[in-house]
Amino acid sequence: MTAAELIRKKRFNKSLTESEIDWFVKNYATGEIPDYQMSAMAMAICFNGMSPSETSWLSKSMMNSCVVLDFSQFAPAVVDKHSTGGVGDKTSLILAPLVAAAGVKIPMIAGRGLGHTGGTLDKLESIPGFNVNLSLEDLKKNVSTHGFSIIGQTDEICPADKKLYALRDVTGTVDSLPLICGSIMSKKLAEGLSALVLDVKWGSGAFMKSKEDAVALAEALRSIGRHQGVTTHALISSMNQTLGAYIGNALEIKECIDIMSGKTCFRGERDLYADTRELTLQLAAEMLLAGQACHSHEEGLKKASEILDSGKALELFHKMVDFQGGDISRFDHEAKHSFEVCSTESGFVNGFEVEALGLASLQLGAGRKVSADSIDPVAGIEVHKKIGDKIDEG
Ligand code: URA
Repeated sequence: MTAAELIRKKRFNKSLTESEIDWFVKNYATGEIPDYQMSAMAMAICFNGMSPSETSWLSKSMMNSCVVLDFSQFAPAVVDKHSTGGVGDKTSLILAPLVAAAGVKIPMIAGRGLGHTGGTLDKLESIPGFNVNLSLEDLKKNVSTHGFSIIGQTDEICPADKKLYALRDVTGTVDSLPLICGSIMSKKLAEGLSALVLDVKWGSGAFMKSKEDAVALAEALRSIGRHQGVTTHALISSMNQTLGAYIGNALEIKECIDIMSGKTCFRGERDLYADTRELTLQLAAEMLLAGQACHSHEEGLKKASEILDSGKALELFHKMVDFQGGDISRFDHEAKHSFEVCSTESGFVNGFEVEALGLASLQLGAGRKVSADSIDPVAGIEVHKKIGDKIDEG
């Protein structure tokens, strides 16, 4: 086998075999296949897609690109959540401590910003000192002690996704169903979960612009989970407006800390945090159900809101930040420079160009244009209106 031969095969829309995919992924993870050949393969996959079997083999090979964790001693209460990507999408940061406070273990492997969407790791790194590159020993210790940990893909765990994720981000190869499936499921299956809850987004700020495409993605993700013996639930949620009040790394951490502290963010009649809180509670209820910490979605919702209101999620969040080297006393979300964008007309908001807002935030410094770019943690956007709100000129 040669890499060029397999790239040509996909380029001419032929199916790759399980061993061809495995060979390509393993050699990419070890560095035998360079980034430029993987970029060509990723582009061929974007153009021609993959069959369900190829997609499942891709996820499995990426998962097996190094260590697969074992948390079976905590089964069935080892659960994680993953979003397919959004703008202002910060629920993981509240969900993980909230669900951990109910006794469910969450060994979360998260991602960085991808395309126009934000990433949990970049958000956490806006807390000075926060380390997303824990050793597997420390990850296990954090999960055992505090119930959860949030780390990135490392050379030990999902190295194939670590490399391909960064490559897709800067080569225009993000929005491809098989590549999204491979990326998400390899990370999640490597965590040694009993169950997984997915937040599959659709709309102007999602990779899947239509609800039908989001449902197809959810079904593909669930089928991979099922084949690997991991119960996989999916919620379909709208990304037709930004979630919450803020887009940007430190700003989103501020929003999460505010919500975990019981704060609201009223502008007129509207609490701009309400949608973040609501989606977090819905996902938490599914996670509690999946981890057998409740008997119904309704019971899960009640339990999740009680935990959130009790301040326990915030307490655990602080413990996790401490454990991972973060110094919350030095956390700052205030930008030195800011400007307001005012409406030139009066009327009602009837939609958002969410992808454009994500890209604007990236241009401000909240994301990367090339892999080596560093992020300005305080860069971002504060959104004051939601769909249906009245606005006055100026
Ligand atoms: N989240 C991921 O981890 N990977 C993707 O490709 C999209 C969202």
